[in-house]
Amino acid sequence: MQKIVIVGGGAGGLELASRLSRKLGSKNKADITLVDRSRTHVWKPLLHEVAAGVIDKHSDGVDYAIHAANHHYRFQLGEMCAIDAEAKTISLAPLIDDAGHEILPKRKVDYDQLVMAIGSVSNDFGTPGVAEHCFLLDSLVQAERFHRALLNQLIRINQQEDSEAGINVAIVGAGATGTELAAQLHHVANLSKAYGMPNMSASRLKITVIEAGERILPALPERIANTARQALNDLGVVIKEQTTVAEADSKGLITKDGNRISADLMVWAAGVKAPDFVTNTGIFETNKANQILVDEQLRSTTDKAIWVLGDCCGVQQDNGKWVPPRAQSAHQMADIVGHNIAALINGKKTKAFVYQDYGSLVHLSKYSTVGSLMGSLSNGSMFIEGRLAKLVYVSLYNMHQFAVHGKLRGALKLLVKKLSHAMSPKLKLH
Ligand SMILES: Cc1cc2nc3c(=O)[nH]c(=O)nc-3n(C[C@H](O)[C@H](O)[C@H](O)COP(=O)(O)OP(=O)(O)OC[C@H]3O[C@@H](n4cnc5c(N)ncnc54)[C@H](O)[C@@H]3O)c2cc1C
Repeated sequence: MQKIVIVGGGAGGLELASRLSRKLGSKNKADITLVDRSRTHVWKPLLHEVAAGVIDKHSDGVDYAIHAANHHYRFQLGEMCAIDAEAKTISLAPLIDDAGHEILPKRKVDYDQLVMAIGSVSNDFGTPGVAEHCFLLDSLVQAERFHRALLNQLIRINQQEDSEAGINVAIVGAGATGTELAAQLHHVANLSKAYGMPNMSASRLKITVIEAGERILPALPERIANTARQALNDLGVVIKEQTTVAEADSKGLITKDGNRISADLMVWAAGVKAPDFVTNTGIFETNKANQILVDEQLRSTTDKAIWVLGDCCGVQQDNGKWVPPRAQSAHQMADIVGHNIAALINGKKTKAFVYQDYGSLVHLSKYSTVGSLMGSLSNGSMFIEGRLAKLVYVSLYNMHQFAVHGKLRGALKLLVKKLSHAMSPKLKLH
């Protein structure tokens, strides 16, 4: 029986594990293992909401071990630290507990087909001080760390009698993550008033969003950027476009022009790259963003037994642009890799991957959702806003839930989530 090992149970990898377990695992046609260094999956586009404290990982997360037990695959907790392409094995680093004790030694996992779905990490472009002083939103652990720091600042300011005292938050990078986080933080500062912090309000939270490019949301159409800028301006968020951060220190950021932006909390959300691990293996062809180059079927150009999907996968489109690192790309790639691995095992035809851009949406908390729809439905590109935009934004998450849990269970999960959100506090205070 073919051994399929998927490394990374994120937006793409967990969908693939679910699909293959239904197509192959349940028919005993393959032995499927999912490896992840975390125990819980939280869909990455929700991480800024975890950071702000408006959602709870316990209601929005998937426990890998339980998901695997309910499907037809195994789960291995661990961090891949090496690949031996000749021996067809990957190595997992020793598993260490919080006290530094070894739970499991370094282990090897054999594969016939390996899937790389390890996502991306923030790219600080070597900017001094970022690693030491800025929060990142690459993982659940990091989002929760920011949330605790935010709560501490809210508590601190709430106790201060000086009504001028405030919290300065600087967000570097005005892509979807930076702009969405700014709006969520504004909402949370107002919410905290109702949760034991009567002196706190959004007027005491000073948010600055800094973008090196010409304008905010550089990857999205100008009309979306203009609408989002207006919405953020209305909230009092300061937007600094064409401003490059040259350094971060414990007191804030220093721009290339030598100006200081003082900040109590700094978040770096200025672009992503595939983990350095990818290039360090020395076995892949990669692009500037460390992404692994693939053939049309999404196999590594250097090894046909290694499939790649999601943010760590480098696919150049006919127009020369790289497929963007987005959940919709990971979702589409998981579909094709799932089809192709099953086709190989069942002796059927594989498919070529062609990226379909269905549009982009920016959800500015409860204040506004804006975006564009692409494709035949909109006959090109159609600007959308308000409730329709929110509905489409939410549908991307719903599609992920259906892919991971199946249609019936996925629908039930969404219903339970809606009920639980309605009954739970609107702000997470731990
Ligand atoms: C705050 C935020 C908001 C976003 N909003 C949107 C949005 O609105 N729309 C959109 O389309 N996209 C959005 N994105 C981008 C989207 O989340 C990613 O494009 C998508 O998650 C990529 O999926 P993936 O499967 O490649 O990687 P991920 O979902 O990042 O999953 C990677 C997995 O690999 C695991 N892993 C990594 N390295 C190892 C290793 N060495 N060993 C074992 N396991 C490993 C990780 O633990 C993780 O579970 C957002 C991203 C962020 C951070």
